[in-house]
Amino acid sequence: MSGKSSRLPGFYRLSLAERANLVGEWAGLEPAEIELLAGQGLRNEQANAMIENVVGTYELPLGIAANFLINGRDYLIPMVVEEPSVVAAISNAARLIRAGGGFHTSATDPIMIGQIQVLDVPDMAAALNALAAHKEALLERANCCDKLMVKLGGGARDLEFRPFANSPVGPMLVVHLLFDVRDAMGANAINTCVEDLAPIVADLTGGRTNLRILSNLADRRTATAWGIVPAAALEKDGMNGREVAQWIAEANAFAVIDPYRATTHNKGIMNGIDAVCLATGNDWRAIEAGAHAYAARNGRYTALTDWHVNENGDLYGEITLPMAVGIVGGATKAHPVAKVALKILGVQSASELGQIMAAVGLAQNLAAIKALATTGIQKGHMRLHARQVAMAAGASGAQIQQIADQMVAEKRIHIERARELLHN
Ligand code: NAD
Repeated sequence: MSGKSSRLPGFYRLSLAERANLVGEWAGLEPAEIELLAGQGLRNEQANAMIENVVGTYELPLGIAANFLINGRDYLIPMVVEEPSVVAAISNAARLIRAGGGFHTSATDPIMIGQIQVLDVPDMAAALNALAAHKEALLERANCCDKLMVKLGGGARDLEFRPFANSPVGPMLVVHLLFDVRDAMGANAINTCVEDLAPIVADLTGGRTNLRILSNLADRRTATAWGIVPAAALEKDGMNGREVAQWIAEANAFAVIDPYRATTHNKGIMNGIDAVCLATGNDWRAIEAGAHAYAARNGRYTALTDWHVNENGDLYGEITLPMAVGIVGGATKAHPVAKVALKILGVQSASELGQIMAAVGLAQNLAAIKALATTGIQKGHMRLHARQVAMAAGASGAQIQQIADQMVAEKRIHIERARELLHN
């Protein structure tokens, strides 16, 4: 796969079938896999086996973001999203970071946390001593729950004991199991383990266990991405690149200090990350929950990113966030299009996927705050949004683009105008 460029100039001008074929060739997809991209990906009987009370399937657009260079390797990024301008914006931002050498990423080990809630502990100090004394035995027992994961190099890593002197129901002890889940998201493995350990924990503490469940605050399983945009790459329409870099740093600072801004700032990041989660069959609610909790980990909700002007006058950006994603388990191998999306990405591990998602989040954020700090978000967004407005008004076929173009030319992009144009 190395040596292939993800720069795809003119990709957006191709027909849908041409794009699918080009991506298929790029990623070495089988003809049947290319067909899955453009046809009905998830069949009814497959959907019926995935959840309960199925009555059908619900389609969303699958787009491909271009220009990603991550740790010296080119990636095409499959994204499932209903919001216009996300895929275009992220491809543009990836091109800017590419001009500075691309993204650089890293990740911690894929360690998830399982929680056991213990109540009615008669003597907290004695309970903590008993748990500490039996830590190795508990870890060994946890390793029996998913022998395959252990064989693959994962398994129980540590136990943490968190006494709470007060809660709305009195004192409480929370036991954390830290478990390396390798290439899985890990929820099922963790839940199995903590359910298995709970009776032993109850015996050792003399208490009563209640909840036994994964924590979605996966702060031991983070991915980091950073990159540089040369100031010269930010020069546009007479705007000075160094100045634009400074405005972007100011936009980030706004989100660092103000939760009202940080929420929207981080939502933009998740526009990108959720879309890759959906495309790859990952649990985007888990990633959302983890990201926002992590953003508030120091007691005040803040930006997930840092953007500042570096000593050369260029723009430096970095993001770190929990990344509980898998390439085995869940829907990743059950949804036929998710399997194709993973093949397009060509990832070898869940860690690699998580690092790509961190880069995607950073790119999406750059696109958003660059637009906000320069032309404003609406100029580019509304142009792309116009087609969806035309469709909402009832346009179909060639009418969609005609009405969208007309509304853009008139700078009147709203549904009433689309309806008028349709009826005329
Ligand atoms: P899973 O249980 O379907 O698959 C993981 C299994 O794959 C492991 O038990 C392991 O034995 C096997 N495996 C094979 N190769 C592996 C490798 N290389 N690395 C690791 N394991 C390997 O999936 P999961 O990841 O445990 O659970 C994910 C699902 O759980 C998602 O669908 C998620 O929505 C759901 N879930 C989430 C929560 C939550 O977020 N709070 C709670 C419950 C369930």
